[in-house]
Amino acid sequence: ELLLSIESTCDETAAAVIRRDGTVLGQCIATQETLHEQFGGVVPEIAARAHLERILPVIDTALKQADVCGEDLTAIAVADRPGLAGSLLVGVVAAKTLALAWSKPLIALNHLHAHLYACQLIDGAPANIYPAIGLIVSGGHTSLYVCHTAIELEYLGGTIDDAAGEAFDKVAAMLSLPFPGGVEVAKLASEGNDKTYSFPRSMIHDPGDDFSFSGLKTAVRYAIAGPGRQDFSTLEISDQVKRDVCASFEAAVVDVLVSKCRRAIKRHKNRNKSNANEANRLIVGGGVAANQRLRRDLQAAADQDGFELWIAPPHLCTDNAVMGAIAWKKFEAEQFASLDLDITPGLQRGF
Ligand code: ATP
Ligand code: MG
Ligand code: FE
Repeated sequence: ELLLSIESTCDETAAAVIRRDGTVLGQCIATQETLHEQFGGVVPEIAARAHLERILPVIDTALKQADVCGEDLTAIAVADRPGLAGSLLVGVVAAKTLALAWSKPLIALNHLHAHLYACQLIDGAPANIYPAIGLIVSGGHTSLYVCHTAIELEYLGGTIDDAAGEAFDKVAAMLSLPFPGGVEVAKLASEGNDKTYSFPRSMIHDPGDDFSFSGLKTAVRYAIAGPGRQDFSTLEISDQVKRDVCASFEAAVVDVLVSKCRRAIKRHKNRNKSNANEANRLIVGGGVAANQRLRRDLQAAADQDGFELWIAPPHLCTDNAVMGAIAWKKFEAEQFASLDLDITPGLQRGF
């Protein structure tokens, strides 16, 4: 039994062919980094157009690699939420068209649920990693959930302004680092002093599960350019300052993420003694989950507090179609989409 999984929520066009037992037979990702680089961020119109050009070759490549054709498929899955409207539309229309042409059932995926499901794909993970507390740290989201099952999630809280990945990207842009910035900031951070600047850990003492990263971003701006200044392209910043800013910034983000996770887990442990697993397991996904400092500090917290920790493998943290293997869970639950499936960009908080 074979699944074709399609991903086009942001700026990665991806497809994968995944067997029911989880084996990936074929996969292809076309990134758009070079297209958006000069703008220092993803430009929605450019992303949509690029998806349109790439979607069929990407699907074709995945199918060829797997050595299968449309008739061999059991179902076609696509992320229909959340994401950029124009980007989502390309994947959804492609999936619907192929489902109709090949007479295959269609499955609609929540991209965020898929980011967390990447933890289920870790070698050595329990056969069912759910229930668990889930942290999504990506370019568009920073949220905590109770994950009852792979496809039943309860929102606990999330960022009230910027996402963690977005903050990484904006700091990178201020320092004139190449796009996408998260990886570059992390690279410089590893060579810098994280105590040079004491950046704010916003909401770290807030008892709830919300986050805020825009104050941190502003603090970084003031540290490198002083208040009021907007144009960073002409600013001369020494390599040492860049390294120290990155290290201090990364430390602030990671401190907040780690302490919020610890608090959420402790709270659930107390409330939910009857369901020990749910309270005592943390799963983490999304692009920022690739960050080495975050992985290290979360592991230290897990060891200290005695909870189980599963972080998505680095290559499955950023957008890909392999995490679309979650569609098999929807297949088993017989949750199919109809051919009039529409996109859900999901811009509201609490998604
Ligand atoms: P969403 O999933 O919320 O729709 P997205 O799909 O754009 O957003 P992802 O692909 O999951 O986001 O992650 C991309 C983000 O991860 C970017 O903001 C990028 O800078 C960040 N990122 C990637 N690697 C690292 C790293 N090593 N350290 C910090 N941030 C990173
Ligand atoms: Mg991306
Ligand atoms: Fe994503």
